[in-house]
Amino acid sequence: MPASIVVGTQWGDEGKGKATDYLADRMDLVVRYQGGNNAGHTILAEGRTLKLQLIPSGILYPHITSVIADGVVVDPRVLLEEMDGLEAIGIDPSRLVVSGNCHMIMPYHLEVEKVTERFLGKNALGTTKRGIGPAYGDKAARIGLRIQDLFDEKILREKLDIVLKEKNLLLTRVYGRLPLAAGTIVDDYLRYAERLRSHVADTSKLIHEALREGRSVLLEGAQGTMLDLDKGTYPFVTSSNPVTGYALASAGIGPREVDRVIGITKAYVTRVGAGPFPTEDHGPDGERLGERGKEFGTVTGRKRRCGWFDAVILRYAARLNGLSELFVTKLDVLSGFRTLKVCTAYRADGETFDDFPPHQSLFHRAEPVYEELEGWDEDLTQARSFGDLPAAARVYLDRISELAGVPISVVSVGPDREQSLARDAAGATG
Ligand code: GDP
Repeated sequence: MPASIVVGTQWGDEGKGKATDYLADRMDLVVRYQGGNNAGHTILAEGRTLKLQLIPSGILYPHITSVIADGVVVDPRVLLEEMDGLEAIGIDPSRLVVSGNCHMIMPYHLEVEKVTERFLGKNALGTTKRGIGPAYGDKAARIGLRIQDLFDEKILREKLDIVLKEKNLLLTRVYGRLPLAAGTIVDDYLRYAERLRSHVADTSKLIHEALREGRSVLLEGAQGTMLDLDKGTYPFVTSSNPVTGYALASAGIGPREVDRVIGITKAYVTRVGAGPFPTEDHGPDGERLGERGKEFGTVTGRKRRCGWFDAVILRYAARLNGLSELFVTKLDVLSGFRTLKVCTAYRADGETFDDFPPHQSLFHRAEPVYEELEGWDEDLTQARSFGDLPAAARVYLDRISELAGVPISVVSVGPDREQSLARDAAGATG
């Protein structure tokens, strides 16, 4: 059975949680492949709200094994807190498996990120300050500590002593902070180790064996393509690679194992924090999108910037990820606009770009070229098939699909699972 990948095609917050939930019934393994505790899924159960930022949402289904693969950075304290939170609402976290190769977020990563963001002042990246960027930095610098280091106390102490020497100099001499004590960190992390031991495994082998046994595997990315460290709007990006190529590297499987690549695409565009966003609407339309779409971050509560649909970035995401289909979310939010704008190209320095411009400065200066489509007034939240959608909504979807060169397989018209309209295999719009 081949694997599927779910990837965000914009700047994150496209509704990947909803898409994963929709697909979960048919999945045996759900694998998170990058990021850290900065992806948010909100769960409502037993009358309580639980926010999961690290554990894949597949954990909610008793038939699913949830996997955290090598490319995720793990703060063990947060992981254990999330596991406790799940237990408290009656969800068994014992089917969670974590790769021993995952790099750990350490207390100095949090401390360093806090002071460096402050140091950058108005040029701050607006990070979530969870230590994720510094942990990926140390991974590349080869001074990171991995989950497997928790199970060799001597190695853990040695590695920590080496790295703390430098981190403490940085914290005390450059930033005027207090040094961190190795002993406290070791004690805390060894305590975490005991609780994590039974969850740690060779996840690449586990995924490979599942595929050989004909079980279905869903690889789930966090954030989105435009936040990719290499392919996104650097430096206003995340510190890992959401693109599907990295899903393979992280999970430890080859490209021939994957046959579905599902691009999660919100029917308009949002962005959190700083960085270029050509189709951003600063007027009442942008406000209205934000209000109707409840565009506030799950993790940070930050208000998201909102704007019109951008087919240029979708085409770019289709190319980078090899999308086989689109899962369009939040179409219901667009009801009530007289006209809807869709960006088909950019203008910058007197040139027109149908594709993502080759230089970052051009993207910063890009002016969207819009096409206007007719809106609709009908409430879409009760629609249960494509046929229930007003004609204008179907035209809008067809145009998005045409501009991206990728078929739409599912359209979501609300947060609930039944508010998902599947297009039939023949591609008929019902
Ligand atoms: P993610 O990180 O990509 O999962 O994105 P978010 O955390 O921003 O999730 C999107 C939010 O929108 C969640 O609160 C979902 O319940 C909600 N949502 C998902 N799909 C739809 C939809 O089709 N319509 C509406 N109105 N809300 C949706």
